[in-house]
Amino acid sequence: MTATCACGQASITVNALPSMHGVCHCTNCKRRTGSAFGISAYFDRTAVVQQRGETKTYTFHHTAQNHDQERHFCSHCGTTLFWFVSSVPEKIGIAGGCFADAGLPEPSYSVTDRKRESWVSLPQHWEVYAD
Ligand SMILES: [Zn+2]
Ligand SMILES: [Zn+2]
Repeated sequence: MTATCACGQASITVNALPSMHGVCHCTNCKRRTGSAFGISAYFDRTAVVQQRGETKTYTFHHTAQNHDQERHFCSHCGTTLFWFVSSVPEKIGIAGGCFADAGLPEPSYSVTDRKRESWVSLPQHWEVYAD
């Protein structure tokens, strides 16, 4: 499955399904995506089989979960494509929406749910974490 940025110059391909896959409603995910929530698909780093295009990075400190994220975005269009989280160094997070054509399976949990927009409804069988 391949995740691709908005302009198509940067992509990352994995050969496995996500080991953790959820949505986050925090303020920063809204800003990062320009959308109502972020979709975070985490894979073992060993699942990455190809990376194309140039990315730039910035570091974001997640205060509530007390970890640092190194975020990689396409240097041409700015789409956040993937990131690394200091608390789970063996995994890579990939922006779930960037798998638009790849048939990523349904997420299984919702985090920072207390900041979920009032008009967003989620499947009842998902795990829900207020923070
Ligand atoms: Zn791009
Ligand atoms: Zn978030």
